[in-house]
Amino acid sequence: MSEKFSPTLRIGDLSDFIAPSQACVVSLKGIKAPTRKPDKPEVLISNKHKQKLKIRKSKVSLPMLSSACPGWICYAEKQLGSYILPYISSVKSPQQTIGATIKNHLCQTMGLSPEEVYHVTVMPCYDKKLEAARDDFVFQVESEDGIHEKEDLRITEVDSVLTSGEVLDLIQLKAVDFKALEESPLDKMFTNVNEEECLYGVAGSSGDYAETTFRYAAKTLFGKELSGPLEFKTIRNSDFQEVTLEVDGKTVLKFALCYGFQNLQNIVRKVKMQRCDYHFVEVMACPSGCLNGGGQIKPKPGQSPKDLLQALAGVYMENVLVADPFNNPLVKTLYDEWLEQPGSKKARKHLHTEYHPVVKSITAQLHNW
Ligand code: SF4
Repeated sequence: MSEKFSPTLRIGDLSDFIAPSQACVVSLKGIKAPTRKPDKPEVLISNKHKQKLKIRKSKVSLPMLSSACPGWICYAEKQLGSYILPYISSVKSPQQTIGATIKNHLCQTMGLSPEEVYHVTVMPCYDKKLEAARDDFVFQVESEDGIHEKEDLRITEVDSVLTSGEVLDLIQLKAVDFKALEESPLDKMFTNVNEEECLYGVAGSSGDYAETTFRYAAKTLFGKELSGPLEFKTIRNSDFQEVTLEVDGKTVLKFALCYGFQNLQNIVRKVKMQRCDYHFVEVMACPSGCLNGGGQIKPKPGQSPKDLLQALAGVYMENVLVADPFNNPLVKTLYDEWLEQPGSKKARKHLHTEYHPVVKSITAQLHNW
């Protein structure tokens, strides 16, 4: 079963092991880590294709490490502890961002209370189930004057997480014949596709945090509008790449993609030795990113996992029309109607989180003797 989790979770102790059919009830709560200092650059990544960035020019400790992958976060909290946690972006993952938006804002605009809405996500890995079960993503219903209306009513941002493999299992179990189904219009709620069917984001199968943030930083900090694909340079392997921006012969931006446990360990080592000169690193626990997640649909008989990965990556790259995620009207409306502006008190309350170094249980420590 453990192979269903990301490699980073597998190498840790699996005392938080859950089977797919079990409810996610495991708390990863531990001791509070120091939160990011206010003078650090703040990257607001509201979800894969709807991103906001605000960077304050200041003296900061670098790099900023992305926070979207729960496999990586779990590894950082359990194995690395408080020295690495302040480097991780405090922005919630896409799953929890959309969960907070639905349960806090959408419910209000639709005149529903959060407990009337059951929010299900479809995700590439089992780590996402653990993420949804974190105490950090549970809140209490508050009345307008801030007093808890129902003391014991705890609302989860995400009620249930299904992997794509589990969705396929359900479809097969119910013997659904898609060809026999009547066509119905696409659900446009929180869509990230515009009227011209362009995706707000970049073409690609995983992440895109580094690319979108890089383009935005180049434009807003250095006045450079980058058109066309970015030139990522392979460093060690295809899962470790970097992109730089030079101005007047000087490197002013240096971003990296770092996928898979081995590459991740290298970055962590460099950060620990204060020898990491990247401004931003998109960290993903699985080699090749989310397409290779433990919950994804398995290859057909006779098809190798590599062939399936290549075929899927092609689908995400070819014929994908993209639009600037910073022009997504939906995100703009959310800030206008609810969050006010990136970095506001409300945005920090609903879209940001904290990380906690996990203290190993006595049993786990004895086990390691
Ligand atoms: S890289 Fe994607 S699939 Fe793998 S653990 Fe992270 S979020 Fe899950």
